[in-house]
Formats: sequence, C-alpha cells, structure tokens
Amino acid sequence: MVIDCVVVGAGPAGLAASAALSERGVEHLVLERGRAGESWRTQRWGSFRLNTPGWMNQLLGEQAPDAYATGPEVVQRLDALAADAPVHAGVRVERLAATTGGYDLRTGDGSIHAHTVVVATGDQNLPRIPALARTLADRVAQHHTADYRVPSQLPAGGVLVVGSAQSGSQIAEDLLAAGRRVVLATSPVGRLPWRHRGRDTIQWLVEAGFFDQRPRDLPDPSQLHAAQPILAAGGRSLSLQALARAGATLVGRPVAVDGERIAFDSSAAANVDAGDAFAAPGCGRWSTSSSPAAAWTPHPPSPTPPTRPWRWTRRRSWTCAPRRSPASSGAPGSAATSPASTRPCWRRTGNQGARTPPRWRRASGTSGCAG
Ligand SMILES: Cc1cc2nc3c(=O)[nH]c(=O)nc-3n(C[C@H](O)[C@H](O)[C@H](O)COP(=O)(O)OP(=O)(O)OC[C@H]3O[C@@H](n4cnc5c(N)ncnc54)[C@H](O)[C@@H]3O)c2cc1C
Repeated sequence: MVIDCVVVGAGPAGLAASAALSERGVEHLVLERGRAGESWRTQRWGSFRLNTPGWMNQLLGEQAPDAYATGPEVVQRLDALAADAPVHAGVRVERLAATTGGYDLRTGDGSIHAHTVVVATGDQNLPRIPALARTLADRVAQHHTADYRVPSQLPAGGVLVVGSAQSGSQIAEDLLAAGRRVVLATSPVGRLPWRHRGRDTIQWLVEAGFFDQRPRDLPDPSQLHAAQPILAAGGRSLSLQALARAGATLVGRPVAVDGERIAFDSSAAANVDAGDAFAAPGCGRWSTSSSPAAAWTPHPPSPTPPTRPWRWTRRRSWTCAPRRSPASSGAPGSAATSPASTRPCWRRTGNQGARTPPRWRRASGTSGCAG
C-alpha cells in the first residue's frame, strides 16, 4: 500500500496532526497500537486532573476557561476527535525505515509505503523503573505512576513516593488525602505558582511565547529532558512545603537499597530550595524547558537515547509500599519504607508564607536567568 502520509499514534499530538492534514486535503492514515488516547486511558490515576486550564486545551474542544478536565473527560474528547479522523486502532508500527522517496512502515497489519511520516508516539508513555528498585525485597510492593490508580490498591501502611515533580507530588497529595503515611523522596524540581497578578501563570507563559519555542531554540538540547516545574492541577499552587505541612516526610534521593531498607542522600533541603529559587522573583529559568515531567531522577538528568527512531523512554515517579501488616510498616524509621541512612529525614513544619510569583521576562541567548 502506498499513501501520502502516515501519522503514528492517535494521542493528542497525532490527532492534532491529522486534523491539520485533513484541513489541507492531505491523504493520510493514523495508525494507533491501542485505542485513540491510549496513554490517557491506561496511564492516569483516579483523582487526576489536567494542570492546564480549559482555555489552554483548545484541541479538546469547547470547555469552561477555568475547567481542569479529569482523565475520563480527556479520553471522551479525544474519542470525539478520533471519530472524525482516519484512525486505524490496534495497529502497531513495528519498524520505520527511510527508503527512496519516503518511508517503509512495517505494522502488525502489513506494510505501508508513505511519502511522509509524522511520528506522534509520545515521550511519556514508557514506564522506566530505576535499577535500584530491582534490589528491593520482594515483599515491598512497587508501582510505577503509569499503573497507580487509587490509594486503596496499595497494601496498608506507609508509602515511599520517589520523585517530587508533577506526578510524584500529585500522587503524594492523593495518598495523604487518603490518610496514608507518605515519605517523599525529593528531586531538584522548580515550581510555579498557579496565579500571578490576577492571572494564571501559564497565561503569562503563553503570551511571552514560551510554548512557541522549538527544540532548536533551546541553548542546550538536554533542557528538553529536564523535569518540568510543578504546576498544580485544578487551579491552585503546590509545593514541597505544602506537602510537608499536609504530613509528608521529605527525604533526599534514594542512594542504596538493602532488602527493605532504603538509604537517602541529604539533598532534601537543597531540593526544597531549588523549588523556591525557581519561584523566586527575578530568576525563573523560563527559557529552559518545555519538556514534560521527569520525576524520578536517580542520577543527574541526561538525555535518554531513542530505543527506536520514533520512540524513547521517560523517567517518571515510582512508589513502593510494604506488603506486610500495617502494624509493622510505614512509619519513617520503620523497616519497609524507612530512610535507613544515618542522615535525618527533613521535614518543614513552618509556614510557607505567600510566595511572590516570579517577575520574569523571556530569556534569550544562553542565559535562562532573567537576573
Ligand atoms: C501523568 C501525566 C500527566 C500529564 N498531565 C498533563 C496535563 O495536565 N496537561 C498537558 O497538557 N499535558 C499533560 N501531560 C503530558 C501529556 O502526556 C501530553 O500533553 C500528551 O499526552 C502528549 O500527547 P502525545 O500525542 O504526544 O502522546 P501520547 O498521548 O502518549 O500519545 C501517543 C500515542 O501513540 C501510540 N503509539 C505509541 N507507539 C506506537 C506505535 N509503535 N505504533 C502505533 N501507535 C503507537 C500510543 O498508544 C499513544 O496512543 C501529562 C503526562 C503524564 C505522563
């Protein structure tokens, strides 16, 4: 079969590409290994809400400007878009090779030659679990963000959430709201206040052209893989301080595992400071990243090479909880989730106080700091 264009993936990006191609009368197919919006169907937790307000998600169709859609609402809207697109669901592209005059695609459903290919396979849908996790004792249950749904799916007791960017912080919140004891292994991630001078912070970013930046505009390509700053879902601010106030015990990065004992480094205070510095007036590294969250950072973030030309993995948060009885587990200092290192857990109990949102301008050149 020969066709002008093939779009691989029917997530938001693939469906947007398809709509643009249709508008311009370009003959094309959208090949999707699962169902349209597969990542949204299978990799979001129960209390999930978009952290981008309705006015910003124009692809998803009409909605209240300040609405923060749930996972099922997003799926419903993507389904509606897919109904108008030439989507072939259940067709996985297994191989993509450049040939004269285009590309050969090998799929589970035969081969296709396309003059052009749009790769829209997403960069956040392959769970990546840190090597350290493999050495945890079998009786410590482990879940990746992608398969976390609700607190009750975890065994009773405390939960260690590893990674404090977008997903890790929201899941820690979810667990705290359900009354679980939470130890949060933090990472050096910035944070954004929800509002600044009466408007959504994200609105300032849009108007400054932050989201118009292309990868080649970035002074350092590795910035694409940096963790995105925390922007709370549902129209409010979220910080490590707020999570500590709600009861989370903040610790640093896990550095060693011995059966059921986990040792952390002493970076917790520095990680809180990194969030504060990002949100502080005068120095927001706005130009640095439009990339998605990377909550698990066992090593300094580094670009992950593509496993295939059109697909690569992405770090995300990871939780583990003891499989044993509540009486013997969970509390920081107890075996299963405890920081076993001699370094103390770090917990801030004081008031966060009102943070002045950043006074910033779009940085250019090599400097991300507006000074
Ligand atoms: C936990 C989490 C929360 C997020 N929250 C937000 C948010 O609030 N707001 C926001 O704007 N963004 C959010 N994002 C980012 C979000 O993932 C992207 O905005 C959006 O889903 C990216 O769309 P995409 O089409 O590029 O990728 P995806 O939605 O991942 O779609 C890729 C599609 O390609 C398909 N596919 C992959 N490989 C193949 C193959 N070989 N053959 C055929 N099909 C294939 C997949 O099945 C999938 O359907 C979040 C991400 C995560 C992980």
